[in-house]
Amino acid sequence: MRITERGYTLYYYDGGGIDKIVYFFTENRGVLPAIAKGAKKSKNRFGGNLEPLNEVEIILYEKENREMPIIEKVNIINENFSLFEDFDSFNYLMTIADIIIKFTPHNIKQEKLYRLFSAVLSALKKGVNIEKLFSYFIIWFLRIEGMLPEFSRCYNCGKEFKNFEDFYVSEDGSSLLCSDCKSSKSIYIPSSFKIFYQLTKSMAPVECSSIEFKESEKIRKFLIKLLKIYGEKNLKSFKYLEKLSD
Ligand SMILES: [Zn+2]
Repeated sequence: MRITERGYTLYYYDGGGIDKIVYFFTENRGVLPAIAKGAKKSKNRFGGNLEPLNEVEIILYEKENREMPIIEKVNIINENFSLFEDFDSFNYLMTIADIIIKFTPHNIKQEKLYRLFSAVLSALKKGVNIEKLFSYFIIWFLRIEGMLPEFSRCYNCGKEFKNFEDFYVSEDGSSLLCSDCKSSKSIYIPSSFKIFYQLTKSMAPVECSSIEFKESEKIRKFLIKLLKIYGEKNLKSFKYLEKLSD
């Protein structure tokens, strides 16, 4: 059966032989892996159309009993080649792609996450800082997946979480704890996190330009810690961002 999907190319890897496996993030089916036959040959029919992050129309051939559909054609609708000009942006974006591929179920529509991803890319094209957008993306990703604790009160004693007061997330990532109730394994929340967190609740990614973003490195590292707990694994792409200093 021939089907057409719309979405973004996330990335591809060698599929053995002369083929590539391409991961798309589609509007209707979430993460969709597919085979690009012969794509590793220097002269192939896909040309540059499989490069990551472009918005594309994908024509696929799908057999009922076959695991992965075969790509017939990829047409670029909106090109995003310029997003790769900066090395840091490239790494942040590939980490986001990695998170979507490894931490979400495949072949299932992810409406909210799709809108978030699309809005983050378009904000980046409009010049919004990638570090802010990355942290914005992670906060919303965790929230959409139901994996972010409510940053309001200590889970144990009910003490209110105030700006610039020492607060922690429990070891399993599920709840907020004050300094009296934390354990030695609780994760410290950077003092400026709460302000950024609250702003992201009401602002679109493109509006992030105006936000003051203090302690960006600490916030990024804190969010990666939460991701590792919730995803129950480390990703190779996290390592680069953990080493990166501001
Ligand atoms: Zn407490």
